[in-house]
Amino acid sequence: MASKYICMDIGGTKVLGAIIDEKNNIIYRVKKKTRAEKGVEIIEERIISVAQDLLKESGIEKSDIVAIGAGAPGVINEDKGEIIYAPNLPWKNYDIKKAIENKFGIPFFLGNDANIGMMGEWKYGAAVKKKNVVGIFVGTGVGGGLVINNKLFSGPRYLAGELGHMVLNPEGPYCNCGQRGCLEAYSGKVSMTKEIKNQIQRGRSTILKDLIDMEEGVIRSKPLKMAVDQKDSLAIEVVDKAVYYLAAGAGSLINIFNPDMVVIGGGVIESLGDYIMPQLKRYIKRFTLPDILEGTEIVPSVLKDDAILFGSLALIKEKQLK
Ligand SMILES: [Zn+2]
Repeated sequence: MASKYICMDIGGTKVLGAIIDEKNNIIYRVKKKTRAEKGVEIIEERIISVAQDLLKESGIEKSDIVAIGAGAPGVINEDKGEIIYAPNLPWKNYDIKKAIENKFGIPFFLGNDANIGMMGEWKYGAAVKKKNVVGIFVGTGVGGGLVINNKLFSGPRYLAGELGHMVLNPEGPYCNCGQRGCLEAYSGKVSMTKEIKNQIQRGRSTILKDLIDMEEGVIRSKPLKMAVDQKDSLAIEVVDKAVYYLAAGAGSLINIFNPDMVVIGGGVIESLGDYIMPQLKRYIKRFTLPDILEGTEIVPSVLKDDAILFGSLALIKEKQLK
């Protein structure tokens, strides 16, 4: 009888794949570039080739695989496995479930990456057995997930949990979504990078100058950590500001939801968690009602880079129980 699972984290730049066994251990991994710019067929081909490589390299038969599960960015109809809209991928009303199931003859399930990451932390990570959880994932942008009364809350049209676009200041900096002053516009790496580049252009002296590519993209979390570790004043300033606003966002969510736990994850926390978490807990007192804050655990992600892989496992198990 089939007992293993193929789980995937489909990002704008990379596809992570893993085979997870019946004891919830990752036994094989594969990582490939998404090459999203080449179009839908290429992405589909990537997903298929990651799954094929996992089977080939592990020697595990297709008949041993119960199902394939994945998390991807964008608005996803979890019931149909259809991508309604994805901001960083060229997908619109794309029935990826059908495409993958036709290819493999194995059930395929898909959900929004932040929600799936939340599922991972809730079922296998930091928030196991907690009834009400807020998850905030800080990376290039800021994603979120909500568990309310023991159920992932994705809303009637799969759009809930966009915690990164909570407006903290209507006159604040512009966000990628077009609004102003979103949590993401303060605490995501895109905004941190903007701030760093502006300061470098103004002639500020910083070791980040040698660690950042001024022409393209966002700063990676590791060089940012390196600069913070070396007490670079600009790096510390930029991270502190991001954490301050993260505390404002997380604090508001604590006031609204009175959760048992707030899980803070994403690439920035993975690299800088030891620096950020104590500071976040200090700042958060400013933004919460003391009675509500009391009894709320604020913890870093446990699964880190594997949150979406384990969330995909949780998604498969949930769908199969139905
Ligand atoms: Zn926004």
